[in-house]
Amino acid sequence: MKDFLPFTRPTLDEETIAAVAAVLRSGQLASGPRVLELESALADFVGGGRTVRALTSATEGLEIALLSLGVGPGDEVIVPAMSFAASANVVVRAGARPVFVDVELDSRNIDVAQVERAITPRTKAVMPVHFSGLAVDLDALLAIAARHRLRVVEDAAHAIGTRDRGRTIGGFGDVAVFSFHPNKNMTTIEGGAIATADAALVERIERHRFHGIRRNADGEIDVELAGAKSNLSDVAAAVGLGQLRHLEAFNARRRALAARYFERLAGFDRLRLPARGGDGHSWHMFTALIDFAARRTTRAEFQRAMAARGIGIGVHYPCIPGLSFYRHLGFRAEDYPNAARIGRETVTPPRFPAMRDEDVDRVVAALHAELD
Ligand SMILES: *Cc1c(COP(=O)(O)O)cnc(C)c1O
Repeated sequence: MKDFLPFTRPTLDEETIAAVAAVLRSGQLASGPRVLELESALADFVGGGRTVRALTSATEGLEIALLSLGVGPGDEVIVPAMSFAASANVVVRAGARPVFVDVELDSRNIDVAQVERAITPRTKAVMPVHFSGLAVDLDALLAIAARHRLRVVEDAAHAIGTRDRGRTIGGFGDVAVFSFHPNKNMTTIEGGAIATADAALVERIERHRFHGIRRNADGEIDVELAGAKSNLSDVAAAVGLGQLRHLEAFNARRRALAARYFERLAGFDRLRLPARGGDGHSWHMFTALIDFAARRTTRAEFQRAMAARGIGIGVHYPCIPGLSFYRHLGFRAEDYPNAARIGRETVTPPRFPAMRDEDVDRVVAALHAELD
């Protein structure tokens, strides 16, 4: 059998590996100069005069962003009904209640037209996801948020390098949180970052990120709140600096591979393809829908068959309100028809920067063999 093609795989160059080795030999391993360098490189990358703070994950970043905005018990936060579970879990962990809004079927992004109807006097924030790196209509969302005095915390886990009408995600808007998990468009192994222009918020994020500690001019510490321990290490930051140098090239390759899938799958009606978006789409994932019920099969069966052909198929993501924890809170997947359908039908074929054009053709041939 040919090499197994996983649905994703990170690309790390020798220069990055050497930079990591240099940090390991330096004696300075935890947060230090490499973290500061990464934060400032990310701020330059997103532009818009933002400050960036790195953390151990996007999940931590989202939770800390909410806590730093004062979101807590009695508050509601609007989230899309289809995303990675972290998008809603962080709201619960902050002590607030998630309010789900359905997503659009093909863009997979929160249906902005339905957001306003979900706002109540308890709503504090809206947390859209730029799904698979396709920007949500932030201008519309920011206008709604301004009318209702809400904060907008973008779950930009898929969207480092995404552009919307020439503006880079994280470089405009309110608060954006990136993920640098190995599956994402760039990695620090585990890691994430928050970008915002709100200087007071940055201070609170720093407190929440590291034990609630504030140091006075003499270096004496005081603790202002029971903070988390979410600072990134210099080892991880060295990986991130090496990745950031290639990010535009990685994303260009992701776009080219997505374009090849579109070209090769045109007219193949067994799959419903995702919205194409424009040039700013960073194509974190290429997801498609398959009506397994109509085919009298299951997604698990399809994944096994594709795996037997050497091809990994991911699932991104189930409908969040249909997950046990959220069902027990009283939510029902049926109330979010697009999210429920995506949850049942979505598949993620392999696509990552190191893939060759022939790999796409091999996946397409296997899809035909399985689905025709
Ligand atoms: C990956 C992901 C997260 C969490 O990122 P981590 O860095 O792994 O914590 C949050 N939201 C979405 C949409 C994601 O895909």
